[in-house]
Amino acid sequence: MSKIKKIAVLTSGGDAPGMNPCIRAVVRTAIYHKLDVVGIRQGYQGLIDNNMYDMSPRSVSNILDLGGTILKTARCLPFRTDEGMEIAYNNLKAQGIEALVVIGGDGTFTGALRFSKKYPDIAVMGVPGTIDNDLCGTDYTLGFDTATNTVIEALDKIRDTADAHDRLFFIEVMGRDSGCIALRAGISCGAEAILLPEKETAIHELIASLKAGEHNKKSSSIVIVAEGDKHGGAYDVAQMVKEEIKNYDVKVTILGHLQRGGSPSAFDRILGSRLGYAAVLGLINGETQKMAGLKGNSVRLTSLEEALMVHEYKLEEDLMQMVEILSI
Ligand code: ATP
Repeated sequence: MSKIKKIAVLTSGGDAPGMNPCIRAVVRTAIYHKLDVVGIRQGYQGLIDNNMYDMSPRSVSNILDLGGTILKTARCLPFRTDEGMEIAYNNLKAQGIEALVVIGGDGTFTGALRFSKKYPDIAVMGVPGTIDNDLCGTDYTLGFDTATNTVIEALDKIRDTADAHDRLFFIEVMGRDSGCIALRAGISCGAEAILLPEKETAIHELIASLKAGEHNKKSSSIVIVAEGDKHGGAYDVAQMVKEEIKNYDVKVTILGHLQRGGSPSAFDRILGSRLGYAAVLGLINGETQKMAGLKGNSVRLTSLEEALMVHEYKLEEDLMQMVEILSI
């Protein structure tokens, strides 16, 4: 058991629904165990600017249903420098903070690991908070489930109008490096094709499968294009396909930032609560440079190094194959 007395919590990088339930769990678990808790506003920027406040159980009342993050988030360039890290360290020491819970994605964890290696007297614990679901050591990241449900809701509506007008829709969804949202939402809504950053789709094959759909009397088709697809965005792909597909009216919709917002799903509320709780218990038990994640249905601590092996993260091949079969 470590003897830490004071911890801090921050959210960093892209906001994700589920961050608030996680902040709530961190604050209340820490206070239950007689630790002081400080909230840091705007991620690593708040560490450098000394933008912190003492939190109580009431600071996190009625936030389970809120999207975004009550602590705000930011992308902070100065924290990437040695000088910025030194300012952050001195601010933490001045406040008597001995451990840090960071809720964010791979960039946030990279920063936390560098910082903790430089200043090992500050323990760090990560919680995966990113809609991209692209970290190792956890089956799910906070926000992924809510974002996928948001995309599904939009796709269902687009299907109604696509079907009414015999239209071919190209829908762009978030995912610069990860096709996780595109794949899950596509399966859930019966997309005719899904273009993913992880897998190059030949345009002539896409055209052939859309023509097969026309031939099979499909009254509408939906193609999901993840942001990071190699051919460009949904407009670029639509342009390449348009000339060859004569019977459909071609439309493009970019879902954009609405995918980040909204009240967290039940899954993300529970996940945020479980991981925030586990992160604090980990720190109390003397752990550092770890991430609290979900494997199977168990909460596990994984080293930040392992969590960051994102090049080893792979989309499920079987799900990708299934899409072709289920959309005939
Ligand atoms: P998302 O997956 O939603 O984009 P993220 O945590 O990956 O979230 P980033 O913007 O990549 O988001 O990183 C968040 C912050 O982490 C950066 O703004 C920066 O302050 C810090 N950070 C990222 N990489 C490093 C690094 N190599 N060294 C120090 N700090 C870093």
